[in-house]
Amino acid sequence: TTFADLHLCPELVHTLEELGYKQPTPIQAQAIPRILAGKDLIAEAQTGTGKTAAFALPMIQQLSREPVTDEYHEIRGLVLVPTRELAVQVGDNALEYGRLLGMRVISIFGGVRFDNQIRKMKRGADILVATPGRLLDMLNQKKLSLAHLQLLVLDEADRMLDLGFIHDIRKLMSHMPEQRQTLLFSATLNSSVEALAESLLRQPERVQV
Ligand code: AMP
Repeated sequence: TTFADLHLCPELVHTLEELGYKQPTPIQAQAIPRILAGKDLIAEAQTGTGKTAAFALPMIQQLSREPVTDEYHEIRGLVLVPTRELAVQVGDNALEYGRLLGMRVISIFGGVRFDNQIRKMKRGADILVATPGRLLDMLNQKKLSLAHLQLLVLDEADRMLDLGFIHDIRKLMSHMPEQRQTLLFSATLNSSVEALAESLLRQPERVQV
């Protein structure tokens, strides 16, 4: 299988060539076509399997299909992550993958000053990568809106639950449109992750590596 076989667009295929990615990993081969088809997805995948590209590439392609409109400043893709380190890493990857398509990506996370992140947010972004607590703070202060969200990813969902983010995640949901695509990635699928998936996803497909 090649990346083009998965129906990724020429710009992304070119970018992946430049990055030296020779072929899709198993999680990418399974997840990318399903996400491009608009399905909700539960993916059981550990770090190191290429899981970030498995959701970031099709997310970028989905969002780049639409012309930029007067909703120019609105966030359309959101990745929730458990830690600041992961926020930085996922944000860097998404920026790298989406550069040719002009994707604007911002990461926000706790433990650093608010004002720099607010300044970044004011410039607008297509994709936001965020830890739940800091994102909730920003929403409560009306520094951003998720009213135009189309695609939500929960990355490392098991770790987010272990770190006690369930209440923040529930509150975040009330800021998002119900009509959206939702993807859940987790290293393990225990009963609390399944319960979260049950409440947030619609007729999800399942993939596993
Ligand atoms: P992740 O599982 O998302 O943490 O990714 C692990 C590492 O694999 C990252 O450094 C990626 O840049 C790299 N990677 C992801 N997909 C591929 C691929 N198809 N070919 C080669 N490297 C990849």
